[in-house]
Amino acid sequence: MPDGSCPHIRAITTVKHAKHRQCDECVQIAAQWVHLRICQECGTTRCCDDSPNRHATEHARLSKHRVIASAEPGERWLYCYPDEAFAEY
Ligand SMILES: [Zn+2]
Ligand SMILES: [Zn+2]
Ligand SMILES: [Zn+2]
Repeated sequence: MPDGSCPHIRAITTVKHAKHRQCDECVQIAAQWVHLRICQECGTTRCCDDSPNRHATEHARLSKHRVIASAEPGERWLYCYPDEAFAEY
């Protein structure tokens, strides 16, 4: 579907959206976040690299889940960590 430059982004047929507008890990430790990203493999929501805890990147590293989408209103893009590939949809 999105014209991504890597097979992981190209394999996504339906973009997962945020179930809750919160970082699933920050809420447990009462931390703040800046922007939210959604893991496209498990559908969980975590915070971006501008946030103090960078949970989305940590989740990608620990879980080997590769592709995230922005959860920000008006942003429609996907990002693949291992390929550093970015695609709008
Ligand atoms: Zn990829
Ligand atoms: Zn977080
Ligand atoms: Zn995940």
